[in-house]
Amino acid sequence: MKLFPTDSFSTQTGKVLEIDFLVHASLIFKFGNRVIYVDPTCRLCDFSDFEKADFIFFTHHHSDHFDLAAIEQLSKEDTTIVCTKTVVYAIPNRADLDIEIMNNWDSISFRKGMTVDAVPAYNYVMREQYHPQGRDNGYIFTFDGLKVYVAGDTEDVPAIHKLAEKAIDIAFLPVDQPFTMTVKQVCNAANIIKPKIFYPYHIGQTNEFTDLEQLSAAFAEKNIELRLRFQP
Ligand code: ZN
Ligand code: ZN
Repeated sequence: MKLFPTDSFSTQTGKVLEIDFLVHASLIFKFGNRVIYVDPTCRLCDFSDFEKADFIFFTHHHSDHFDLAAIEQLSKEDTTIVCTKTVVYAIPNRADLDIEIMNNWDSISFRKGMTVDAVPAYNYVMREQYHPQGRDNGYIFTFDGLKVYVAGDTEDVPAIHKLAEKAIDIAFLPVDQPFTMTVKQVCNAANIIKPKIFYPYHIGQTNEFTDLEQLSAAFAEKNIELRLRFQP
């Protein structure tokens, strides 16, 4: 199995959250004995020898975030899939699967101290047709008080500015264009949301690459730690 970068965090009561950074917008959270995948897709990664999933979260149905092969490779008997309606429509034979649909602003408390809030993810001005408002999700995962925001495919839109009130610890904000944030947009979003740590993600596999040096320079003066973990 290919090795990927990993970071570990301690929660308020000393539990450990491990984050594995796979490729593009795919990542794994390991918390307690649970393995939680976000946007795994076999188009970008072979999961045949990965640990099976307790949870698989999908932000939306686009092929750089979702495919059926990843569900097949990662599912076990009690895997829960959490996703949008458009993902459910893309899954045939779904009667066998445990699926929770989340709409924007829904909140679910899962067992053993993990709460998840769905946050709007969308484009605006000319590009709404790719990620229209109200359809796709970002997610805030709260692991024993530690808040991790995975934004999905979104621009710096007014809805995510409401997260300023949420005391986000760690934020995954999408860069690389054309459907996510420019350097200017991601700086503005981070200035408003104020995470302690910012991981640029959704890197590579797109047409327009973000200048990561320019991005790092823009964050050098901020009170936000930028960590580059995904490879272009
Ligand atoms: Zn998308
Ligand atoms: Zn995408």
